Amino acid sequence: NPFARARYMLAAHNPPQLPPDGGFEVAFAGRSNAGKSSALNAICQQNALARVSKTPGRTQQLVFFDLPPTTDRFLVDLPGYGYAKVPKDLQAHWQAFIDGYFRTRQALKGLVVVMDIRHPLKDYDRQMLGYAVSRGLPAHAILTKADKLGRGAQGNAMLAVRKEMKAEYGDLVSVQLFSGESKQGVDEAREVIAGWLEL
Ligand code: GDP
Repeated sequence: NPFARARYMLAAHNPPQLPPDGGFEVAFAGRSNAGKSSALNAICQQNALARVSKTPGRTQQLVFFDLPPTTDRFLVDLPGYGYAKVPKDLQAHWQAFIDGYFRTRQALKGLVVVMDIRHPLKDYDRQMLGYAVSRGLPAHAILTKADKLGRGAQGNAMLAVRKEMKAEYGDLVSVQLFSGESKQGVDEAREVIAGWLEL
């Protein structure tokens, strides 16, 4: 597992704090409580990796995890999206930062959108998918908490999301079932991300 040695590297809350734009990055987005931290932890086989992203004061930052022994491959956690209580001016700053990151970041190779299988494709999810696809970047939707549904309902939910995403965003998007709880879909997610990072 190329992600098992992932470790916190830095958090950036404005563009000058970003690491040099020379490597390979995959960004993770998800509404708060979707299960993004659990997904990151499962993919990286670690219990508390993504906890740092939830530290108060870090919820409006891009959190970078590097992947030793590489020095130029990163997972980027985009926290703070979907938080209701953020003050207006901070929201504007955050929007501008994320927007600029998506528009200009050359290292960004793909977007993972983590969605609760029972509540997919909300406004924020669509905004993130739109950012990625409008730049020609691939996006992969992880439908997590699949363990909350039976097999049939999981399949139906995935087909519905896949159909809607294809119609709206075309062939740059893909979808899978996932559970941080049962570890369903973890290998599949790793494969997609490792491919984007050329690991
Ligand atoms: P985040 O805010 O998107 O980072 O979400 P978390 O990973 O912290 O998860 C939010 C809540 O959903 C927590 O109570 C988790 O235990 C629960 N959760 C996350 N992933 C799963 C999953 O795959 N299955 C189930 N049943 N619960 C999950």
